[in-house]
Amino acid sequence: MSQGASFLAQVEASFDRAAALTKHHPTLLGQIRQCNTVVQFSFPLRRDDGTLETIHAWRAEHSQHKLPTKGGIRYDVNVDAEETMALAALMTYKCAVVDVPFGGAKGGIAISRHKYSEGELERITRRYTFELVRKNYIGPGIDVPAPDFGTGPKEMAWIADTYAQIRSDDLNALGCVTGKPVQLGGIRGRTEATGRGVYFGVREACDVVEDMKALGLTPGLAGKRVVVQGLGNVGYHAAKFLEEGGAIIVGIAEREGALHNPKGLDLEKVVAHRKEKGTCLGFPGATDITQSLSALELDCDILVPAALERQLTAENAPKIKAKIIAEGANGPTTSEADAILQQRGVLVLPDLYLNAGGVTVSYFEWLKNLSHVRFGRMEKRFDEGFARGLLGGVERLTGKALGMKEKAELTHGADEIDLVNSGLEETMIGAYQGVRDTKVALGASVDLRTAAMVTAIDKVAVIYREMGIFP
Ligand code: NAD
Repeated sequence: MSQGASFLAQVEASFDRAAALTKHHPTLLGQIRQCNTVVQFSFPLRRDDGTLETIHAWRAEHSQHKLPTKGGIRYDVNVDAEETMALAALMTYKCAVVDVPFGGAKGGIAISRHKYSEGELERITRRYTFELVRKNYIGPGIDVPAPDFGTGPKEMAWIADTYAQIRSDDLNALGCVTGKPVQLGGIRGRTEATGRGVYFGVREACDVVEDMKALGLTPGLAGKRVVVQGLGNVGYHAAKFLEEGGAIIVGIAEREGALHNPKGLDLEKVVAHRKEKGTCLGFPGATDITQSLSALELDCDILVPAALERQLTAENAPKIKAKIIAEGANGPTTSEADAILQQRGVLVLPDLYLNAGGVTVSYFEWLKNLSHVRFGRMEKRFDEGFARGLLGGVERLTGKALGMKEKAELTHGADEIDLVNSGLEETMIGAYQGVRDTKVALGASVDLRTAAMVTAIDKVAVIYREMGIFP
């Protein structure tokens, strides 16, 4: 399958399209576009069977206009310098769109994690961290990694532990990485944050009556038919929250194949089936699709690519039936496919906005680590007492008493998870409105991706301008 220009070229083309709509100085635009620094290192791994192997790894810091820089670490055989730089650039723009005060970065190790034992993965992760420390590419005020494709809380725990061992005098050592298990300085709600953010973004888009009318859809998420590619962190949680929000999951695509049931698939049952059988195929009541990629062409309202980049190409874009593409993954749509989809009137909710929930909650985790206190700990009981007093006054004045359940709900003080989810919802709603307003101001021919990029460029540009570096 032809995938067109490289991922980096794709991100840069998207930047150039947006930059042409701004009035910033060309040198300033060049500064923002350029990846500031990228480091590559190779190190040996002794495998469990005694054989030796060389591991290749990268970390790119795209923009240090704000520090620390921030971005996930990916474990995948296709990782290379270019891909890492492309993903780091996306992080800069993503953080700007959702007002998270970080520069963009990304890391990667060229391995297929399934081919390594847990002990081997631990050795690889700890050595990678050691190299990052040695090269000054990690630290709570320098560069803060997070999970991405092929990594999760366990890898983040190994990174935090390795860093803390080396920098034992750093009081804020736990803030060197986010996405950690809650017991190790992580934050409640981080694991599901990207998928939850995808849900908030899709819900927001579906609530704009005129946009839905233009697509020939009714407003609201309820009843919308969804196909999801990837049942990993982002895909699973996006599907879960969309399902809870009233959407119907009609298709699920994984690496081994895809499932289709126009009447709806029960997500939890599919997950349990896959866990038991080692494949999603053969799920009762669903049709198997052996060519997984072709599931993207299924009849549906919303397609959520949440696995890999460059899945929607010039080849399959003309055959996509979804009216809304919700980019859970980074870079799932090539520039060629983007142009075709836009021409066909499909609404693409771009990655640099839609999957920013992860970095938003990572920001909350970093703040928690620096403040050394769990969110809600100081005010929860006080707020509950205040609300109880207020309710008591209302009851006395009205002469009516509320039921126990109602009272408990109204006087509940916010826990960490409540605050995280509320902060995430506020961020995703505010950012969608900001990007959509920019789109409206730029004119009907401008798509949401370009509008989001213009929003990001303006926000980064202002930093350099305020420093008096550029006119
Ligand atoms: P993950 O490793 O948890 O899940 C990826 C899933 O995709 C796995 O279930 C895998 O089996 C599946 N997959 C792999 N190849 C496939 C194929 N050819 N067809 C269908 N499914 C396939 O990774 P993740 O963290 O969910 O990341 C997925 C995407 O989301 C990546 O592009 C990543 O950069 C992006 N992203 C992740 C986060 C995050 O917080 N984890 C945040 C922003 C963006």
